[in-house]
Amino acid sequence: MAKYRCPFCEGFAHTSGGLPNPNEFLVWTAKQWDEVPDQVPSDRLLAEATLMYKCVACAALAIFWRGGRSDPTWYSPLRQVGPSGSGNDSDRAAAPLTR
Ligand SMILES: [Zn+2]
Repeated sequence: MAKYRCPFCEGFAHTSGGLPNPNEFLVWTAKQWDEVPDQVPSDRLLAEATLMYKCVACAALAIFWRGGRSDPTWYSPLRQVGPSGSGNDSDRAAAPLTR
């Protein structure tokens, strides 16, 4: 996969490298989890997961909602809400540095 520059700091999120990646999170909805058979290949579980990667510098999260087939949406626990207070500025995408 790639290295993505964090839009909140000078850091980045790596989606490749050593395994297991300590900054990678795999997330399933409760519905998905309930539908998992008793025995399932790990590659199928991975294919169903939403992938999240933590910025190595500030802990912002790059979330790949569609399994890495598009650029991530970034969320930061440290972000500032815009003057309108709408919070709509949180959905910031960033282009990958490398692929
Ligand atoms: Zn960052």
